[in-house]
Amino acid sequence: MKIGLPKEIKVKENRVALTPGGVGMLVRRGHQVTVERGAGVGSGIQDQDYRDAGAELGSAAEAWAAEMVVKVKEPIEAEYGYLRPDLLLFTYLHLAADRALTEALLSSGTTGIAYETVQSSDGSLPLLTPMSEVAGRLSVQAGAYHLQKPQGGRGVLLGGVPGVQAGHVVIIGGGVVGTNAAKMAMGLGAKVTILDVSHRRLTYLDDVFFGKLTTMMSSEANIRALLPETDLLIGGVLIPGARAPHLVTRDMLPLMQEGSVIVDVAVDQGGCVETIRPTTYDDPVYLVEGIIHYGVANMPGGVPRTSTFALTNQTLPFALQLADHGVSALLGNEALKKGLNTMNGKLTFQGVADALELPY
Ligand code: NAD
Repeated sequence: MKIGLPKEIKVKENRVALTPGGVGMLVRRGHQVTVERGAGVGSGIQDQDYRDAGAELGSAAEAWAAEMVVKVKEPIEAEYGYLRPDLLLFTYLHLAADRALTEALLSSGTTGIAYETVQSSDGSLPLLTPMSEVAGRLSVQAGAYHLQKPQGGRGVLLGGVPGVQAGHVVIIGGGVVGTNAAKMAMGLGAKVTILDVSHRRLTYLDDVFFGKLTTMMSSEANIRALLPETDLLIGGVLIPGARAPHLVTRDMLPLMQEGSVIVDVAVDQGGCVETIRPTTYDDPVYLVEGIIHYGVANMPGGVPRTSTFALTNQTLPFALQLADHGVSALLGNEALKKGLNTMNGKLTFQGVADALELPY
């Protein structure tokens, strides 16, 4: 199969959808890969690395002319002209929030397989997990930085020093983001408390961390009790398919010490802190009631090299199957089948149809 790897053109997107290692695997299986010149530069991968792996280099149009295009972000308007009926597009699509792209995919007849809806039999979302891992780990780095006095923070070192108590990191939501945040915070020597509504999840966390962190049932009373002693609050709540609930409301902020930091990773689903709003790496924080709020909605974009390798580790096995078998790969792979969002001008994913009130 002919496979295209275009350069991401969405503002500030530096990831790329295949590494040279991935390209090499496709080429060894007899596929032909066209990489747009400069596609890997934002992730520290040079054109020569792709050439050495057996790819041809070309223009955007040449990469998009392939039978299957592998990308990171959903196509933006400038890319709609490349969509066509015999194109298989494998990328993040997020169609429920993007009517214009949905219509462009449907009217062009493109087969769109969305990373975010590929779902394993245990209900997990394997192509979203790596980005939650990255964001969870980064949340502690970001929080530790903004806790420093020159950044406007309380001036607390999360790990403390001998004779001085450590900072307290409180994490709401003990899923992928929360677990990875906990690992980083504990690695720094911080005191860590994690809250979740799932007793099963709390039991798991207690087991894997050998009771070295405190687990608590997530409730308003418990959150209120923790806020006065919280230096860094991390939000990692997810209710699949729904907006995040506001678990820390504006009236609760005065309970926190001035200069404490909130990193609400769940900001992309509306946030679990009422006063959070999406921010960017250009201007990541703002103050409400003396509390630093960090709401970067695309945290993995700050570490594109790590994110590229983390994402492609998970996408490559699916990309190989699609390259080997085309759309027929869906017949033998239930997880991949759940990724199918559009085909032959029809919406094939119920959640998107419901969100956009379009026929399914
Ligand atoms: P996950 O499903 O692995 O974990 C979510 C956890 O929240 C679950 O354990 C669930 O039991 C828990 N939860 C649900 N309701 C709760 C409540 N009321 N109180 C406490 N816990 C509750 O999800 P995840 O992969 O960890 O993702 C978390 C959020 O982070 C999502 O909104 C995701 O989109 C977001 N995210 C953001 C970025 C970013 O750059 N900002 C990057 C990756 C993921």
